[in-house]
Amino acid sequence: MRKVAVYGKGGIGKSTTTQNTVAALAEMGRKVMVVGCDPKADSTRLLMGGLAQKTVLDTLRSEGEDVELDDVLRPGYGSTMCTESGGPEPGVGCAGRGIITSINLLEQLGAYDEDKSLDYVFYDVLGDVVCGGFAMPIREGKAQEIYIVCSGEMMAMYAANNICKGIVKFAEAGGVRLGGLICNSRKVDNECEMIDEFARRLGTQMIHFLPRDNDVQRAEIKRKTVIDWNPEAPQAYEYRALARKIDANSMFVIPKPMAIDDLESLLLEYGLLGDAVEEEVAAAEEVAAA
Ligand code: ADP
Ligand code: MG
Repeated sequence: MRKVAVYGKGGIGKSTTTQNTVAALAEMGRKVMVVGCDPKADSTRLLMGGLAQKTVLDTLRSEGEDVELDDVLRPGYGSTMCTESGGPEPGVGCAGRGIITSINLLEQLGAYDEDKSLDYVFYDVLGDVVCGGFAMPIREGKAQEIYIVCSGEMMAMYAANNICKGIVKFAEAGGVRLGGLICNSRKVDNECEMIDEFARRLGTQMIHFLPRDNDVQRAEIKRKTVIDWNPEAPQAYEYRALARKIDANSMFVIPKPMAIDDLESLLLEYGLLGDAVEEEVAAAEEVAAA
């Protein structure tokens, strides 16, 4: 069983990308469990056709110790299995701790057992790895393989770099490795080239460039992945391509985080290149008009 965690800045597209990729893996015949590790509990909405009725923490609060696996783990699209850790009541307690409690409970209840014949478990983890709880899947060897969702926006790259620092911290002892960056496009100038170069500098790969596509929203309002909503949509093929690359991936590294100055130079280099291209286009247009 491959244990995969998806990290990245909030709102970057972790949950969307995870679920669409998982749907594609399911189409390929892989048996996948998705564990939502975000108190928002929206990591499985598109696979379940709506928000989870009850998170693991909710169930623990209401049922006490009498929880059964079926109470917290439910079938979703394809042959996927879905669960949401949930979080503490707002303002009380550490959300990270909830993840620890949830994963331990799932283990105790046998969610990962051989007889479930899982090919993959995907952890969709909130934000960055600064807080102990959110680092837990990688700290305690629950996840072996990390993918970072990012874009060419500065804060997304900054977060990706920080996540790499977190991976380095736990890589030696725990064996966790970075499998690549997933560029979820925000249509930044030279984004594909820049993230490709960013990945190279980190010692990893840009495993796939996902275009920004409104079909993602069209599917989302129907509570579906793009693959489920319209299997022939171009974006569905993008997610299938990503799923195939993950399935075949063999590049697992301990990343080399960049110094902030170098990261900013990289942004400047590619950002300026964007301006240069625009100037060139404007100049060419002037020539054409003359
Ligand atoms: P995260 O889990 O990282 O916080 P989400 O997966 O919830 O982020 O994504 C935030 C929003 O971005 C989603 O509501 C979705 O509509 C949109 N989104 C994500 N990826 C794409 C994409 N490739 N094209 C268009 N919209 C996208
Ligand atoms: Mg999310």
